[in-house]
Amino acid sequence: MTEGIALAVQGLGKRYGRKAALRDCSFELPAGRVSALVGVNGAGKTTLLSVLAGLLPPTEGSVRLPGADSRIAFVAQDKPLYRHFSVRDMLTLGSKLNRVWDQRRALDWLARFDVPLDRVCGKLSSGQQAQVAFAVAIGSRPSALLLDEPLANLDPLARREVVKELLAAVVDTDMTVLLSTHVVAELGGVADHLLLLADGRLVLSGDVDELLAEHRNYAGPRSEQPPVPGEVVHASHVGSQSTFLVRAAEPVTEPWTTRPATLEDLVLATLENTRTVAA
Ligand code: ATP
Repeated sequence: MTEGIALAVQGLGKRYGRKAALRDCSFELPAGRVSALVGVNGAGKTTLLSVLAGLLPPTEGSVRLPGADSRIAFVAQDKPLYRHFSVRDMLTLGSKLNRVWDQRRALDWLARFDVPLDRVCGKLSSGQQAQVAFAVAIGSRPSALLLDEPLANLDPLARREVVKELLAAVVDTDMTVLLSTHVVAELGGVADHLLLLADGRLVLSGDVDELLAEHRNYAGPRSEQPPVPGEVVHASHVGSQSTFLVRAAEPVTEPWTTRPATLEDLVLATLENTRTVAA
């Protein structure tokens, strides 16, 4: 995998009239890796992806693509296709519209998911339409692929296959992937990097393994404080028991027990926290 930065964002903001959909977002996307963009409905994920893809101008801040030959492909949530075009026509269109085009890669993707080339897009299932949109994006050989909710509309088997094929494409071609999702449980083993948005702000970002190594869950007798020092990301008290998710990696003694944090623990606790603070 390439060590480096695929995309550098500094002080990015986007307003729709009076509504600030993105505020002061700064981050770097590691090249040749999969990053996950997570946040509740309305957090600003689509807005951020659209600005990164160059489809929306930011109100403030900048997006920098450090590579000399950086090409971004964006697959929007509604997977726009021409309904009266056949799948083959969509590939022809892809080949005409893109400076770089790899017909073999696009065809291989469609064959992998049994999408009929001669059927018009309007008569494909929504999952098949998503596969056509992925094939066109993959065929353009992007250095960075931005996917807005790519797993929505896919059955569980197709989800697993899409994730597997995307990871293979990342390894084979050093492509950088940024995908937005609500399905946090499916991110384990997929994303190496996390961007967590809440109300347009980036509230957590970084390497997933490092973030997980920095956090632990502690459970024990009811208490206002966790058994170790550190930033409390989340606390819950039920009956005579308390549990804490703490930014700390210290061992504990009985009666407290500890278990490693999962990505789902961390994302859900941080989202709940930001919601509580906002309220
Ligand atoms: P979801 O998970 O529901 O797709 P999201 O995280 O992608 O949400 P965005 O679609 O980026 O969120 O929207 C961020 C905020 O900006 C929301 O409050 C939304 O109502 C607002 N917004 C989005 N597009 C527009 C627009 N064209 N005009 C005005 N407000 C908008």
